[in-house]
Amino acid sequence: MNANVKPPFRKESMRIAGKLVQTDDIVEVLNPYDNSVVGTVPAARPEHVREAFRSAKAFKPKLTRYERQQILQRTAEILRDRKEEFARLIVAETGLCWKDGLYEASRAYDVWSFAAQLTIKDDGEIYACDISPMGKQRKIFTTRVPLLGVISAITPFNHPLNMVSHKLAPAIATNNRLVLKPTELTPLTALALADVLYEAGLPPEMLSVVTGNPSTMGDAMITDPDADLVTFTGSVRVGKHIANTAGYKRIVLELGGNDPLIVMEDADLDRAADLAVAGATKNSGQRCTAVKRILVVNAVADEFSKLVVEKAKKLKSGDPMDPSTDVGTVINERSAILFENRVNDAVAKGAEILHGAPRRGALFAPTVVDRVPYDCELVHEETFGPVIPIVRCPDDIAEVIRISNSTDYGLSSGVCTDRLDYVSRFVAELEVGTVNVWEVPGYRIEMSPFGGIKDSGLGDKEGVVEAMKGFTHVRTWSMPWT
Ligand code: NAD
Repeated sequence: MNANVKPPFRKESMRIAGKLVQTDDIVEVLNPYDNSVVGTVPAARPEHVREAFRSAKAFKPKLTRYERQQILQRTAEILRDRKEEFARLIVAETGLCWKDGLYEASRAYDVWSFAAQLTIKDDGEIYACDISPMGKQRKIFTTRVPLLGVISAITPFNHPLNMVSHKLAPAIATNNRLVLKPTELTPLTALALADVLYEAGLPPEMLSVVTGNPSTMGDAMITDPDADLVTFTGSVRVGKHIANTAGYKRIVLELGGNDPLIVMEDADLDRAADLAVAGATKNSGQRCTAVKRILVVNAVADEFSKLVVEKAKKLKSGDPMDPSTDVGTVINERSAILFENRVNDAVAKGAEILHGAPRRGALFAPTVVDRVPYDCELVHEETFGPVIPIVRCPDDIAEVIRISNSTDYGLSSGVCTDRLDYVSRFVAELEVGTVNVWEVPGYRIEMSPFGGIKDSGLGDKEGVVEAMKGFTHVRTWSMPWT
């Protein structure tokens, strides 16, 4: 395995119905570690977006289930065979470390191969109608049909391959057409994925990729008359803008998180500390489901906090291309400065830094902060970096649940306890989409339902099974049946 080969400079084009399209203006894609230019992409204007939707709408996909399965499975296999090539590109444009880049590249196999396997299953239902005094000798059948219009997909920087895959794979599995706008920060991986799909046999009209600055062409993605559904993964701020702008179309919003890891007094503290450190620092802490608050009860907080520091000290932060690095950079220096300011603000409000290192550009090392007040900005807002904040809570499950529910977010959670009475209360009372007992909040398989409530999400869930439902209409039809 060779992490230390930089990918060649890429002067990219958009892919509009498979055609390569350039523009006069470009956006530079920067490597957050050394600020080198990794490549450039065109800066689309609204008319490019219009052309992408127009071409998509004009095409009527006719792929059989078998043909879709073949394209999806071939895509999974090409991605598996080229995982190192993808990992290098991911590391270069995100600053994630090689280990995280390789994980991101490998994980996509599941998304595409699960979509391939699910494509061949017909989930139609049959309702007998002779079941009441007014009943008739008929049957009602259901069948799922693709959207009449086009899917508009907008994706974030933090999982540049998988967030895109979670929109493309279910869309293709259900014979939909799609226009994708990846983030301007990490668009190169998405363009490379589009080429894999074309190579795997996808009719190019089914997928266009447009690139550029959201201030110029973002609204065109949301309001295009041929877009029937906008599926968005990203921040709450942009998600709410989409909700206010989209008008009469379906929207799927997968937004930010502020996930707790809860540690109760009966927990195996060593195991809990492992989950806390891994959950807060993997992917440079830039997962919507990263551990963003550790809520530990006072009875065990001293001992737990010592174990967290011990484990955090073992992590190596530094050059993302060095295969022994555990934590690379965050997405840019601006974000790193924001996290630094929030840590300082927490300290001013009584928190204590137990481990960390001075920030260097976008390199923000894992930072353990103890005695963080539960309502300071560091833990009340989403801090999208490798901070490990410990919030000490009263020895009372009702208080722990109240503190956990005290933010506007509601994505996922992890709980460390063996007591079934606690588990049943957490499952019933935490205001979240997921409760993982003895796992990090981000634990999932690529086909299980995934998504949050409150400010963390609106509309259908993701995960291949739910997304395939969300990208279709249910049509019912009936006929006489004796
Ligand atoms: P972001 O909201 O800044 O950007 C996301 C996408 O929206 C990008 O493609 C961006 O170009 C686009 N965009 C920005 N303004 C727009 C506008 N006015 N119109 C149309 N598009 C616009 O988010 P980010 O910083 O790239 O990603 C990090 C966020 O994503 C975090 O909050 C994270 O929690 C969240 N996220 C959520 C999930 C989930 O499944 N719930 C998964 C991953 C990331």
